Amino acid sequence: MSIAGDAVRRESCGSCGATLDGGRRIGSRDYVTGTAFEVVICPSCGLGWTTPVPADLDPYYPRTYRRYNPWVARVLSLLYRWRVGRWCRGFARAGSALELGCGDGVMLDALRSRGWQVCGTERTEAMAATARERYGIRMYVDPDGPQPDHDRFDLIVLFQVLEHLADPVAALSRAQSLLADGGRIVVGVPNLASWQAAFGQGGWFHLDVPRHLVHFTPSSLAAAAARAGLRVEAVGYISPEHDPFGWVQTILNRFAGNANRLTLLLMGAERWRISDGLTLLGVAVVGPVAVVLAAASWACGRGAVMEATLVRG
Ligand SMILES: [Zn+2]
Repeated sequence: MSIAGDAVRRESCGSCGATLDGGRRIGSRDYVTGTAFEVVICPSCGLGWTTPVPADLDPYYPRTYRRYNPWVARVLSLLYRWRVGRWCRGFARAGSALELGCGDGVMLDALRSRGWQVCGTERTEAMAATARERYGIRMYVDPDGPQPDHDRFDLIVLFQVLEHLADPVAALSRAQSLLADGGRIVVGVPNLASWQAAFGQGGWFHLDVPRHLVHFTPSSLAAAAARAGLRVEAVGYISPEHDPFGWVQTILNRFAGNANRLTLLLMGAERWRISDGLTLLGVAVVGPVAVVLAAASWACGRGAVMEATLVRG
């Protein structure tokens, strides 16, 4: 059913097909536009679906989305390279890697520096050009790209990508078809079963509606992967680049009505005001608590972001 001519209400689960009627609902407001959305949880498989789904998501992506100021970008780059090093430990030797939705290509650059042959995809030519120009990486623009009849990869990465896609099972199936024998798919997504999600509810930083169209728990991700012919080999929750910050922003949202203002300031989407001194004070107070909560949630398997390793099932 069309809403206001440009958004579609989700009636059924895009993974298992069950009707979403009667599923638990989490109300949330987009912090960029102020538009109200809901996440409805599939009563059958547990996947969460953002509804309604805007016909055009471009107005919901600020120009500065995921573009951080230089010092934040530098810290993120170091943490991403640390993460890539962990992936490489699972392989006896460097092979071929594909990252679907690779952003500026920093992870592929890190893999290449470890001897891997790499290529990536992005959804527009302009985005593909960023990785191509910054790191000289071979890039494709969706839906064109590597084909299963002549391209196979030892490692396929979907990092903070799957939750943005309207049909995550199709994306996993595509990745499965491109996987070399013995290869692995690494999927990084927010964890709707995390302590942070339970605390934050509609104000959870990583809910990020409507940019996040689908919301995973460990078990609902496993069910979606199974539909794509994949099984979960391992799940990890250590995420220093996402989890402590997520706690800070989520606590500020819940207790101080911050509405992700800290994030908008760090992205350069809003100008600093005198009153933002209170936000900085909040960061100073909440920051140490956030680090402790994040570390405890990792130890208990309830971290805000999970990284699953998938293999052919
Ligand atoms: Zn379902």
